[in-house]
Amino acid sequence: MEVFEAHERAGGGLRSEPLFDSEVVHDICAAVHPMAPVSPFLRTLGLEAHGVRLLHSPAAYAHPLAGGRAAVAWRDLEATCAELGRDGRRWRRLMLPLARRSGDVVDLMLSTQRTPPSPRALAVLAPRLPAHALRAGGGLRTEAARALLTGVAAHGIGPIPSPATAAVALLLGHLAHTTGRPVPEGGSGAVAAVMTARLERLGGRVHTGVRVDDLRDLPARRITMLDVSPRELARIAPLPPGYRRLLARYRYGPGAAKADFPVDGPIPWTDRRLAAAATVHLGGEHGTAAEIARAERETARGARTDRPYIILVDPAAADPSRAVRGRRPVWAYAHVPHGDTRDPVAMIRAAVETHAPGFGDTVLAERGLSAARLGAYNANYVGGDIACGTMSVWQTLARPVPRWNPYRTPLPGTWLCSSATPPGPSVHGMCGYHAATAALAELGR
Ligand SMILES: Cc1cc2nc3c(=O)[nH]c(=O)nc-3n(C[C@H](O)[C@H](O)[C@H](O)COP(=O)(O)OP(=O)(O)OC[C@H]3O[C@@H](n4cnc5c(N)ncnc54)[C@H](O)[C@@H]3O)c2cc1C
Repeated sequence: MEVFEAHERAGGGLRSEPLFDSEVVHDICAAVHPMAPVSPFLRTLGLEAHGVRLLHSPAAYAHPLAGGRAAVAWRDLEATCAELGRDGRRWRRLMLPLARRSGDVVDLMLSTQRTPPSPRALAVLAPRLPAHALRAGGGLRTEAARALLTGVAAHGIGPIPSPATAAVALLLGHLAHTTGRPVPEGGSGAVAAVMTARLERLGGRVHTGVRVDDLRDLPARRITMLDVSPRELARIAPLPPGYRRLLARYRYGPGAAKADFPVDGPIPWTDRRLAAAATVHLGGEHGTAAEIARAERETARGARTDRPYIILVDPAAADPSRAVRGRRPVWAYAHVPHGDTRDPVAMIRAAVETHAPGFGDTVLAERGLSAARLGAYNANYVGGDIACGTMSVWQTLARPVPRWNPYRTPLPGTWLCSSATPPGPSVHGMCGYHAATAALAELGR
């Protein structure tokens, strides 16, 4: 088993590195892992058995609002409802049935999307999806609850409202109150290290610093698993013209532009409850659902906005070991148009400063990666699209092409296993798991 990786280090979206000094470790891409406790693949990997603890901040995520206020999704559903005023009841009615049927909902969302949904998953999703697919914030009335839910929907990176972002909101929204949004102790690199060690124990080898330009250059093998974008697949594989034409129709979405800061203390949020959350969503001038929805729509159609949606992660809020003598890594990315070349540092600093005056004084250093540079860093993030392809309803089902077996390519023994296949982006390992299952079935294993 041989792995060829273009980067100097294995791990893809799971690399962690000391970026500015030798002590403070930053996650280069993924930092927070809501799917780790629920993904069948990551569960079988046995992270905790390998010494990788998944650590939680007291709040799963939070959202600053105008006037120094904030909305907080505590891990405890009742604590969350208690702070949402007249929307407390509605939040409970939305989330509790999803939490009770979480296993069924997760099974559906992490499936190949080729098996009929279980009636139990349908029973909780069908009455809830339409409201959120048609209106940002669904039937919620208070600004706090509407912003909380819209901030989660925006993880879907696309127009809000839409069926795809509504599904993301219901999935990640309810998981916040069940298995939470953990960070791996020490950083995401710990997960990559477990996977690499498992591969090597099984006799596999990772060759780093090797960008594959032509599949025909690779050593003889029975199975080829390609963790690449459809664009890269077309570049490196001798594909028949019909399949090549289908791949050319694959659509990429908006980009992410990321900033990293080592800071010399907790973020001075005006509403101190925000410090209880490792993940904070920011958007628009006042943090409202309407502003976030507008920014996401504009970004999706390629327009620049000065107040984009931003996800900020402060891993030390969950894992105190990430703060070294008071210095902690802060990571944030903004949604920007596809291929955008702007350095996001000033924009992100200004957005945080609005809700945490004095943040700038705590920043010890900074690094910005535009969407274009993120795309150059990892060929799977085409134009900075970290979802490796738009998550519309159609493209969720037809990733990368409309085929019953989406992992199979026309080349014998050659399978696609990146997040351009179902169930799509995020760190859950299920694209590879389903692709490997299909490949082994063909070999009769
Ligand atoms: C800034 C950022 C923040 C994110 N935050 C989160 C988060 O907090 N939680 C979460 O769940 N997800 C997060 N994600 C998304 C997550 O990282 C991706 O969904 C996930 O990594 C996709 O997995 P993948 O296997 O498809 O691709 P990747 O993990 O990107 O791996 C693909 C690998 O293939 C290599 N490669 C590509 N083409 C070639 C070639 N021709 N030859 C050799 N090697 C090649 C690439 O270098 C890369 O290492 C984030 C992504 C980014 C960029």
